[in-house]
Amino acid sequence: MADIMITITCPVCEKKFEKKARELADGTILKCPICGEQTTIKGTMFTDLVKNNEKAEKHA
Ligand SMILES: [Zn+2]
Repeated sequence: MADIMITITCPVCEKKFEKKARELADGTILKCPICGEQTTIKGTMFTDLVKNNEKAEKHA
């Protein structure tokens, strides 16, 4: 399976960064590479990320 990149928008600095989908799961703690803030991926946040990513892929 190819690595799918998920774009994440940091809730603190609002910058976007990418993570591999396989590294993400409900409860994953992400550290923003720009501001260093830690964000926990929770339930709807994760499913929304996947949904948004699927939409983006169709347009690509
Ligand atoms: Zn940030």
